[in-house]
Amino acid sequence: MSEPGKRLEEPLAEQLADRIRGSVVGRATPGYELRRTGLVWNGRPAQNYPDLIVRPDTIGEVRTAIRFAREHGLTVSVRGSGHSYSGVFLHDGGMLLDLSGLDDIVPDIETRTVSVGPGATGGRIDAALAHHGLAFPVGHGAQVGIAGFLLGGGIGINGGAWGGMSCHSILAADMVMADGRLVRASAGENADLFRALRGGGPGLPFVVVRFILRCYRRPNHIALVNRFVRFSQLPDVARAIERLSDRLDSRLQVMLAIVPAPAELAPRLAQDDHNRLGALTAIAFADDATEAERLHAPLDGEPALQAALHREAIDPAGFDDIFAMTDMALTAPRVRADNIFTDRLGEAVAALMRHLPAAPSPACIPLIVRRNSPSVRDDAAFSIRGRFSVSTYAQAEVAEDDRPTAAWLHRLYDDLLPIASGCYVNEVDLEGRPEALERCHSPAVREELAAIRKHHDPHRLFRGPAG
Ligand SMILES: Cc1cc2nc3c(=O)[nH]c(=O)nc-3n(C[C@H](O)[C@H](O)[C@H](O)COP(=O)(O)OP(=O)(O)OC[C@H]3O[C@@H](n4cnc5c(N)ncnc54)[C@H](O)[C@@H]3O)c2cc1C
Repeated sequence: MSEPGKRLEEPLAEQLADRIRGSVVGRATPGYELRRTGLVWNGRPAQNYPDLIVRPDTIGEVRTAIRFAREHGLTVSVRGSGHSYSGVFLHDGGMLLDLSGLDDIVPDIETRTVSVGPGATGGRIDAALAHHGLAFPVGHGAQVGIAGFLLGGGIGINGGAWGGMSCHSILAADMVMADGRLVRASAGENADLFRALRGGGPGLPFVVVRFILRCYRRPNHIALVNRFVRFSQLPDVARAIERLSDRLDSRLQVMLAIVPAPAELAPRLAQDDHNRLGALTAIAFADDATEAERLHAPLDGEPALQAALHREAIDPAGFDDIFAMTDMALTAPRVRADNIFTDRLGEAVAALMRHLPAAPSPACIPLIVRRNSPSVRDDAAFSIRGRFSVSTYAQAEVAEDDRPTAAWLHRLYDDLLPIASGCYVNEVDLEGRPEALERCHSPAVREELAAIRKHHDPHRLFRGPAG
């Protein structure tokens, strides 16, 4: 690994800066380290130092940068908004292409589509569509960029009713290839690239510079209900969700987090609750209040949930309330995430209950998301089955806590892996367990993606998560 601050590529930085208006930062440029660490959402950036950090202003500049990288034998890694938990885009050496400047959002009301740049965030896309009574299944964090989210698959808001994984709602994309060509991929053009970008994950052999997305009619009435249940009663809750699962409308999104008990509820907990609660969130995306009530009814009638310690409703709710829940759950700066998909919810909850009492911090928070449409499709690389996504966000305040946090998380997921149908590439710990990448696609899709990489990027210009 090379040392920070060493004068390596400054002449290259100057050469490229002469060709584009966007910013070009070399290793010896003042402010390099601030720029490098500022690109990583996670508060623990890897000790990797790109030779050039390039932030193009236009699609034309992306093409210029790619050609420049080829001319000078630089590898290229790509960053959207930098929210990858594993910081997969931050490599040592080469060019880091930061696409956050390409963030335009242009809705088309006639066709109910939206054109978005790869640097656009979920919150801004939602706000732009809301004006027109439209919506898209963006991720649950307002600041999360659309590009990495979609390329990995995308577990989006109301995804169950809106196409399953959010990548299924990509209609087309424009991409810059390794030779600098601008190419469109859609169902009718470059079908192999189209499949790849719908869930192929990080390290694809192109840079997406524009997505065309299908939009959906915005629900008139969103009603959100949180129920807080005792930790010790989580097995009952898991059984209830499994039992009800087939009866729940696709417009009811159900998530279960296991959170530290808030001060007002802590006195009501017993020792075997370990000062934690299950927080079951159900969100109805309905036309009116009556329909929302109907969507919630199966949960309301469930005895395990009637026994909740506390129930609170946000009615009517908006996407901003959902974004706020994500912000509230992320309380410490150094985050490590891991994930499995599974059909075996009861066993997953049992494993979480075994490990959480030994968690290094209360800020180690599992989140289970019920998937309404767990089927896989032929026209997308996303190929992991399983009705439940089980992620855990293990958060630490200071660097000394990183190692015990990672060790605990790995013990937990070693225990969960036997019941996994696969792993979600955007939330699995690619940094700590790079071998988990193997589990993020079906064997057939893995082979296909390898062939696509070889064909479209024979000289391996683009770097993947493994380097
Ligand atoms: C607070 C928070 C909330 C989240 N919520 C959700 C959620 O609700 N649902 C969900 O599914 N995920 C969620 N995630 C995970 C999220 O989907 C991933 O972190 C995703 O990678 C973020 O996209 P990004 O553009 O920031 O990716 P980056 O971190 O910028 O990049 C990750 C990788 O994506 C590839 N990439 C990015 N842009 C391009 C491009 N334009 N062309 C080619 N390749 C590109 C590169 O290989 C890059 O290495 C969340 C993450 C956070 C931190």
